[in-house]
Amino acid sequence: MGNFTLMALPYEMDALEPVISKRTLEFHHGKHLAAYVNNLNGLLEGSGMEEASLEEIVCKSSGGIQNNAGQILNHELYFGQFCGKPSKSEPTGSLADAIAKTFGSFDAFKEDFQKKGATLFGSGWVWLSADRAGGLFITQETNAANPVQKGLTPLLTFDVWEHAYYLDYQNRRPDHLAALWSIVNWEEIELRFGKARM
Ligand code: MN
Repeated sequence: MGNFTLMALPYEMDALEPVISKRTLEFHHGKHLAAYVNNLNGLLEGSGMEEASLEEIVCKSSGGIQNNAGQILNHELYFGQFCGKPSKSEPTGSLADAIAKTFGSFDAFKEDFQKKGATLFGSGWVWLSADRAGGLFITQETNAANPVQKGLTPLLTFDVWEHAYYLDYQNRRPDHLAALWSIVNWEEIELRFGKARM
């Protein structure tokens, strides 16, 4: 069996309400993500990749192993980027500068990011990523894909699989995406941006 474990959430199950309900979080973390971890650990047995990191597996494998590892990596970044009471509502410092330079303004960035999440057909993820020079990119990734597969460092992501919002928002994916901004922990995103350029 592989050695991956279900991440501990850095907040209580009801901390993100009303944007993400306790009930959604219990299913999303405790059932969906837990299943990806169990699946991957089973699939890794005898694969020759038992010692690889999640990023290595996502970049170098295929099929079920890649899909389950991708979903674990994606969800760890997703759940790790929120908090119930963020200390600030938008980034500051070098990340704020890079967003203004690339997208014109923070509001223009949010609009573009949200639109790409709302228009992604089927299941997947919208991402803000950085390259080593600090350049920023918004990409749509289907199913379990992650920007590390394109050589980018993922910074921020919104999960647009229906399991992420259906209990709380049903078909109203755009409303769910618009609400997520209020729980983004920009200090965590700034840390990721700093590491991308190291
Ligand atoms: Mn999900």
